[in-house]
Amino acid sequence: MNSRRASSVLHVRELGSEDVLIKILYCGVCHSDLHAAKNEWGFTNYPIVPGHEIVGLVTKTGSSVQKFQVGDRVGVGVIVGSCKTCDICQQDLENYCPKVILTYNSKDQDGTKTYGGYSDIVVVDQRFVLRFPDNLPADAGAPLLCAGITVYSPMKYYGMTEPGKHLGVAGLGGLGHVAVKLGKAFGLKVTVISTSPKKEVEAIDRLGADSFLLSSDPEKVKAAIGSMDYIIDTIAAVHPLAPLVSLLKMNGKLITVGLPDKPLELPIFPLVLGRKLVGGSDIGGMKETQEMLEFCAKHNIAADIELIRMDQINSAMERLAKSDVRYRFVVDVANSLASP
Ligand code: NAP
Ligand code: ZN
Repeated sequence: MNSRRASSVLHVRELGSEDVLIKILYCGVCHSDLHAAKNEWGFTNYPIVPGHEIVGLVTKTGSSVQKFQVGDRVGVGVIVGSCKTCDICQQDLENYCPKVILTYNSKDQDGTKTYGGYSDIVVVDQRFVLRFPDNLPADAGAPLLCAGITVYSPMKYYGMTEPGKHLGVAGLGGLGHVAVKLGKAFGLKVTVISTSPKKEVEAIDRLGADSFLLSSDPEKVKAAIGSMDYIIDTIAAVHPLAPLVSLLKMNGKLITVGLPDKPLELPIFPLVLGRKLVGGSDIGGMKETQEMLEFCAKHNIAADIELIRMDQINSAMERLAKSDVRYRFVVDVANSLASP
C-alpha cells in the first residue's frame, strides 16, 4: 500500500451545509481494511484509502450544523451516509439501509468516491459524526468506532448481556479483545476461544477473561462442550463452525461478525437438536454507536493498542494477517509521536 498522505492527492468533497470538516488525529487498523486492500471480498474499487476508526477535531462546520462546533473532538466509524428516510433509517439502523455509504470504497452523496481515515482530513455529514466522550483516550478509543460497536450491537440485540451467563469470544484480535472487555462490563463469565497459545496469559491477566480455550486442543474442547450460553465469532478467516456450535448449551446463540472471504459450512443437526441459534450482525446505527461510546467511557473501556506511524502501515498489515497484534494497530495520523 502506498502510504503517502491521501488528502494531498485524492478528492475530498466540498463542505455542504450539513457537513463537518474533520482533521484526523488517529485511525484504527481494522481487519476489514486488510480484506479491502487485498480485494478479498471482490468489490474493492481501487484506488482506496482505508480506515474507518477515526478520531479527530472539527475544523469547520457547514451552515446548518448545530450538533458540533470547531474544536470538538469527534469520531467517525464505518459509515458516512444513508438515505435517512427509509423505515430502516427511521429506526436508527442506518448501517442496514440499502443506500448506506461506507467511509471508504463507496460512492458518496455527490457521486465522488469516499476515502477513509488513513488521510489528514475527511468531510462527513453531521448525522454520521459521533461526539467523542472526554474521558476516552483519542488513540485507544478510536477502535471502538468499528471494533467496539460491532461487538456491542449484537450483544445488546441478541440479549447476550444477562449477568452470570457464559460468553465465548472466538478470535482474540481487535474485535475479540473489546468483546472480552464488554462481556466483563456486562457481568458475564468470559472464555476466549483462540488458535494462539501465546495469548492465554494476556487474555486472563491483561484483558480480564475468566478462561482460555485453545481451539486446537481436542481434549480441552471436549471438556467445554455444552458449557456456553453465547458465542461471538470474530474470526477473520474460513474456519469450522461445528466445534463452536458444540460448545453452546441448549438454546445457545452463536453470533458471527467476522467476514471470511468464503462461505462457512453450517452443521444443521446440532442446531436443530439443541434449539440453537446462529445469527449475524453488521456494526451498528449512529444512535447505538453513541450509546456504546458513552458505555465505554463510563466503564473505562478502550482498546489495547500498538500506535504506529503512517509509514509503518505495510508491516502492520503483514502482522495483522498473521494474527500478530496486541490487539489493535492505531495510526498516529497527525504525527503526534514526532512531537516533543
Ligand atoms: P483481527 O484483529 O485480525 O482478529 C481476528 C482474529 O481471528 C485473530 O486475531 C485470530 O485470533 C483469529 N483468526 C485469524 N485467522 C484465523 C484462522 N485462520 N483460523 C482461526 N482463527 C483465526 O481482525 P478484526 O479486526 O478483529 O476483524 C475480525 C473480522 O471481523 C474480520 O473478518 C473483519 O472484516 C470483520 N469485521 C466485521 C464487522 C461487522 O460489522 N460484522 C466489523 C468489523 C470487522 P486468535 O489468534 O485468537 O485465534
Ligand atoms: Zn472495521
